[in-house]
Amino acid sequence: MEKLSRRELLKLSGAGALLGPLALSLQEASAQGMEAYEIQLPETTIYSSCLQCNTGCPIKVKLYEGVASKIDGNPLSPWTFRPHLPLNTPVDVVAKVDGALCPKGQAGIQTAYDPYRIRKVLKRAGPRGSGKWEEISFHQAVKEIVEGGKLFAHLGDERHYPGLKELWALKDPEVMNRMAQAVRAIWAEKNREKKQALVAKFKEVFKDYLHALIDPDHPDLGPKNNQVVSAWGRLKAGRSDFIRWFFGQSFGTVNLHGHTTVCQGSMYFTGKARSCQELCVRVCVRGAYRS
Ligand code: SF4
Repeated sequence: MEKLSRRELLKLSGAGALLGPLALSLQEASAQGMEAYEIQLPETTIYSSCLQCNTGCPIKVKLYEGVASKIDGNPLSPWTFRPHLPLNTPVDVVAKVDGALCPKGQAGIQTAYDPYRIRKVLKRAGPRGSGKWEEISFHQAVKEIVEGGKLFAHLGDERHYPGLKELWALKDPEVMNRMAQAVRAIWAEKNREKKQALVAKFKEVFKDYLHALIDPDHPDLGPKNNQVVSAWGRLKAGRSDFIRWFFGQSFGTVNLHGHTTVCQGSMYFTGKARSCQELCVRVCVRGAYRS
């Protein structure tokens, strides 16, 4: 193991006094006793984002003989190295400085090489709950999800499974808005007979669109579009805009549901809620795990 001496770090940074932030960062690294080791090479380091939780920390992944061998924080980011290295820091210098990363992020190697990691689309190949699956291509998966059909006929299941095409039943937003207003009025009516009369009126007013409803006698269930549920795991800005637009505004389902990870709950929201005191939070939550 080759240890970067303080002198070497300052030498790497050129004139430390002239490159203030860089010198500070490298000095910080030196003060922490950060050691250089053989896989810290710019040509075998990949910079990316951790997706072990929703936080998306910037990472550097070091390869050894083509295999991801160590994951650390990206020292170019203030989120994982403070103060971060200037963006014009030479790549061979950046490669020798590791930022902080939580244990779950460092364990990303286990996720990447998990023998049970699902890399292809799996389609059920037996009765529900049988645990039998077959690999299919993305092309086939997209086709079946969009077109629908008797997707499990080869298993003796002759039922028709509707595809997205079929469930995109109501396409006129103006009609949808008018239906929503009528449903609100039905919900607000507490008298049973009057409520039934409002449902009858609904069916008369929207008689041309009843085929597009899940159940015309229960207009509050909405159009068949609502049979599609968009359930996501990590949805950051950009992806969230696109998915909400695609499924919500464009496809027209109201069923959008997110869930998250333990890591996000404990770290991301805690950090975010206290971001006005972010230094304190980062030292408490992340600093304990700096590697
Ligand atoms: S908090 Fe940890 S697991 Fe979450 S993105 Fe950052 S390094 Fe990865």
